[in-house]
Amino acid sequence: MYSEAKKPVAQKRKLVTAIPGPKSAELIKRRGEAVSASLGTAFPVFIDHAQGAIIVDVDGNSILDLGAGIAVLNVGHTQNRVADRVKTQIDAFSHTCFMVVPYTGYVEVCEALNRLTPGKFKKKSALFNSGAEALENAVKIARSYTKRSAVIVFEHGYHGRTNLTMAMTAKNMPYKDSFGPFAPEIYRMPMAYPFRWNGDQSKCAQEALDMVIHKIEKEIGAKNVAAIVIEPIQGEGGFIVPPKGFLPGMVNFAKENGIIFIADEVQTGFARTGKMFASEDENIEPDLITTAKGIAAGLPLSGVTGRAEIMDSIHLSGLGGTYGGNPIACAAALGAIEVIEQDNLVERANKIGQIMHDELTAMMKRYSIIGEVRGRGAMQAIELVKPGTTEPNPEALTAVIKYCTNKGVLILSAGTYANVIRLLPPLVIEEDLLRDGLSVLDEALASIK
Ligand SMILES: *Cc1c(COP(=O)(O)O)cnc(C)c1O
Repeated sequence: MYSEAKKPVAQKRKLVTAIPGPKSAELIKRRGEAVSASLGTAFPVFIDHAQGAIIVDVDGNSILDLGAGIAVLNVGHTQNRVADRVKTQIDAFSHTCFMVVPYTGYVEVCEALNRLTPGKFKKKSALFNSGAEALENAVKIARSYTKRSAVIVFEHGYHGRTNLTMAMTAKNMPYKDSFGPFAPEIYRMPMAYPFRWNGDQSKCAQEALDMVIHKIEKEIGAKNVAAIVIEPIQGEGGFIVPPKGFLPGMVNFAKENGIIFIADEVQTGFARTGKMFASEDENIEPDLITTAKGIAAGLPLSGVTGRAEIMDSIHLSGLGGTYGGNPIACAAALGAIEVIEQDNLVERANKIGQIMHDELTAMMKRYSIIGEVRGRGAMQAIELVKPGTTEPNPEALTAVIKYCTNKGVLILSAGTYANVIRLLPPLVIEEDLLRDGLSVLDEALASIK
């Protein structure tokens, strides 16, 4: 049983057993008997408790978390201002279904989303449970509003695991393989991916834009397109940052053709990229924005926010769900948003992003397997290649992750070619701890040089 006496958790990495320790190993065996073997494990320990950027496992190891539950814990593990609101809410009431009896927390989260998301126009929001559910609803809204059916998505894109969002997600293995048939009317376009652009990288934005527009016009017909859906920085696809001009070009094309532009900010949102939302970087104003991960410090919550006339165009009771915008999740979101704003985590994301970028760039000079350092703010990655080529090097990635795991540093992978190391630390991480994690990554890269 967890006891409060275990807090506060020292913000230091410290191993007292091998990874996994004996208690974790026992639980891994037990899990094997009870849990579907399909579910993976990025880091093979069982957690006991956590705070800030440190996870303490059941054997007493203090693990440095550079994944933040996949960009969910931007405010860190067990943030007091989140926990307090959650405890108060669960004592007051835990559920009504917002469409049965409404409550203030839901309205307050929508007000916060309307205020914080980019776009100088009147906005409204609706809340759901997961990122995929937000994407499902954004597409429903765009199709209903435009009375069109085609949806444009991009190579390397990730939007979820439900039937519609699987169709929207690019990567077959492990997300789609054997799970078809998929939802129709989803069209995948080339992505502006400078590192892998065929030809002159500096022409990537314009060439990709021309190619996408040509394909939409010739193969689908712009007037048949309900929505263009894109992550402003692709997450699971490998932290692919579209070069300047690509996103504004897509937004303009959408506007000229009555197409709803949907920014999927599920991974990039809530201060992660050094702006409250990544769309702000090039001042784009998406018609709709989907949010989830960083919104509620781990409680299941997601949102669709956008132009009021679009959000209000759906027939009464067309949107909803039993749990969407659950009061406890809303309380957590209000706590998380308060921390992000009061503690200026946007600025923190820039600060720790700069440290990561500088350190990774220095490593790139030393290790020829690093093909590129990229990202924005506290969303930084390295793409691993065979030295002197752009050929993906997934073997090196496996070795690096294994090394870091054995040293108690949790680092996540990504990428269509399974060769990208992505860093997503909690934004509250202390500088020394971050540097400690980066030095372990450095050792890991040196070990396979
Ligand atoms: C994680 C993610 C999703 C899916 O969110 P879930 O909560 O896992 O359904 C959708 N889009 C992006 C960009 C994501 O990173």
